[in-house]
This record gives sequence, C-alpha cells and structure tokens, in this order.
Amino acid sequence: MNIIILISSPAGGKGTISRYIEEKYHYKHISTGNLLRNEIKNNTDIGKKIKGSMKKGKLVDDNIIKEILEKELSNINSNIVLDGIPRTINQAKILDELDKKYNNFKITKVIYIEIDKDVAQSRAVSRLVCPNCNRTYSKDDILCNKCNIKLVSRNDDSEEIFLDRYDRFIKETRPLLEYYKDKIVTIYNNNDVEDAYLEVDKILKGDE
Ligand code: ADP
Repeated sequence: MNIIILISSPAGGKGTISRYIEEKYHYKHISTGNLLRNEIKNNTDIGKKIKGSMKKGKLVDDNIIKEILEKELSNINSNIVLDGIPRTINQAKILDELDKKYNNFKITKVIYIEIDKDVAQSRAVSRLVCPNCNRTYSKDDILCNKCNIKLVSRNDDSEEIFLDRYDRFIKETRPLLEYYKDKIVTIYNNNDVEDAYLEVDKILKGDE
C-alpha cells in the first residue's frame, strides 16, 4: 500500500485534492475529519467524547485518532491518500509505528498544499459541506450533486475558530515539513483548483 500524505492549513484544500487523487488515480481517500464527524453523526461512544472539542476546533486525542485510523487501515488493500493526519510530530511517529507494524504500508509522498492565510480564511467561512458524503462546496451551491441533499455549514468554520486552528497549524503542523523533508513536494492552491490539479498530475505521473 502506497500512502500519500497531504498537509495544509485548515481549509487549504486537502479534501478537494484528495477527492481528485481518489477519482483519477484510484487511491482510497481517508479523512480523519470525516471519520470523526461520522462518529459524531452516529452518536458512538467516541462521537460523544469528541463532540465538544471538535466543535471548538481543538485537536482530538491521539489515542482516539490512532484507534479510528487503525480500524480504517485494517479494511483497506489499495493505495491511500491521507487527509488530516498527521497534524503533529507525535502523530507522524504514530504513523511510523503503523508503518513498522504493517510491513505493506509505505509513505511514498508528502504533498504540502500551500495557501495564503487570507484565502484559506475566506474559503473556510464561506464553505458548505454535504452532511451525507462530506464533500465540500462553495457558498453559491445549494444541493450536493451526488446525494442531492441540502448543504450545510460546518460548526467549526467560524472566523474565530479558523484563526485559532490556523495558529495551531503554524505551531504544531508546519514543523512536519522539516520532519518529512526528504519526501515533501509543494503545490499552490491560492488560485483556481484546476491549477492545483495540474501540479498533482505532475507529481503522480505514472501512477494512473
Ligand atoms: P480541515 O479540512 O478544515 O483542515 P478537517 O476536516 O481535517 O478540517 O478536521 C476537522 C477537525 O477534526 C479538526 O479541527 C480536529 O478537531 C479534528 N481532527 C481531524 N484530524 C485530526 C487529527 N489528526 N488529530 C486531531 N484532531 C483531528
């Protein structure tokens, strides 16, 4: 299993780029944010524990992240694009442990999606999501074009929570660029997402 890790600030485009990689290159998209939101939606024991911290944009406990990720990985046999993990050096070490435990698991690329803070902020406060499939849309959309149901705002997409999450990204997540310095490639997502897709194509050429 080849693993691609995506790193970006909140609302940097990890979900959108992951979906592109899933559809074009047949990698399985695993989003820790979506897995956690599903736990809340299904009112599981984990969902009850994490509801408060997620609403405030705080990071969920590493043991919970490890548990849901390991459960998900045990059901998958294809290449994977990881969206939302690791968010800290400690979580990168958790992935390294899983790498040792399952010897068919190999981090091949780490893609850093670079975006200006103000662009990410305006995308965060205006984005809508499908409550069923978690696909992200812009503020002008009304229905999910896959599930045909009404789009909603995420309760952690206010300006105040974005700013707090962004600070944490700078302090805790950005140091991962140094941790993965041998594997990192950067793409830019300030402009049209089609431009970012072209950059992804250059990185994944040959993986189709
Ligand atoms: P975005 O797409 O805006 O970056 P995500 O959907 O990836 O947001 O994450 C939403 C929330 O889910 C985070 O603010 C955090 O509460 C929780 N979360 C997601 N991934 C992790 C993780 N690896 N570790 C801890 N918490 C996480």
